[in-house]
Amino acid sequence: MRRTIAPVTRPRLTVALTFDSDAISDGIRRGDSPVKLSHGEFGPRVGVPRILELLERERIPSTWFVPGHTLETFPDNTAAILAGGHELACHGWYHEDFSQLNGEEQSTILERSVEAVRRATGAPPKGFRAPYWALGPVTLDLVLGAGFEYDSSLMADDYRPYRVRLGDQHSMTDGSTFGPESALLEVPISWALDDWPHFEPGPNRDGLSAPSKVIEIWTGELRYAHEHAPGGLLTITMHPECIGRGHRMAMLEQFIAEAKALHGVVFDRLDAYLAER
Ligand SMILES: [Zn+2]
Repeated sequence: MRRTIAPVTRPRLTVALTFDSDAISDGIRRGDSPVKLSHGEFGPRVGVPRILELLERERIPSTWFVPGHTLETFPDNTAAILAGGHELACHGWYHEDFSQLNGEEQSTILERSVEAVRRATGAPPKGFRAPYWALGPVTLDLVLGAGFEYDSSLMADDYRPYRVRLGDQHSMTDGSTFGPESALLEVPISWALDDWPHFEPGPNRDGLSAPSKVIEIWTGELRYAHEHAPGGLLTITMHPECIGRGHRMAMLEQFIAEAKALHGVVFDRLDAYLAER
């Protein structure tokens, strides 16, 4: 009698809910006012527990990019994220703008934030996301050298992780030449799939979108990826101090329900998705 081996069924689409828990790390570096700091504090105080409760209820594993300052200032959050089975990844220390720092300064921050995750989890982090998605010319060389397996700060693709090229050269007289692909994987991101520019006021935008607008964009991406990118990855970026507000949590719940209603959609941590590719 022949034994039959069931075929491995891969998800049609994986959705990664990712959370950048900036809290007050950038505010204290900038010397923000007590009011702005309190806006950041809403994240660890209200947003994080609210999000973790939703993820537990929906049985969704996720990835958290947490600045070292947040990790150490809000240890209850850190413990709760890990207790929920979520991935912890790096996001600077004081949410620095890496494009404004020299190589030595960037390396020091990377090493310090890796050690903070190692202290929390017992293992080095696999992922890095640049604060503000701001990279200097050598930042990703340093990220690779610091032992990271993936970055999540670039936008050259949408539903497919790709290998980061290092050593691209651009000239106004001789055009562009592209460097070789490196071992560093890229999990591409998008402003459209980030809660912050939709909901938070900024220098060049009003923010404060109605959730009905944002859910239309996010589910539009969800359905397109499900139809056209089999085996792909849809990465959503959120901030606890932003998405944690009630009307936005209701939108996130709706987005999760829309995703679960599609055949073959799963939610996963970024490290788990990348390990299965
Ligand atoms: Zn951030």
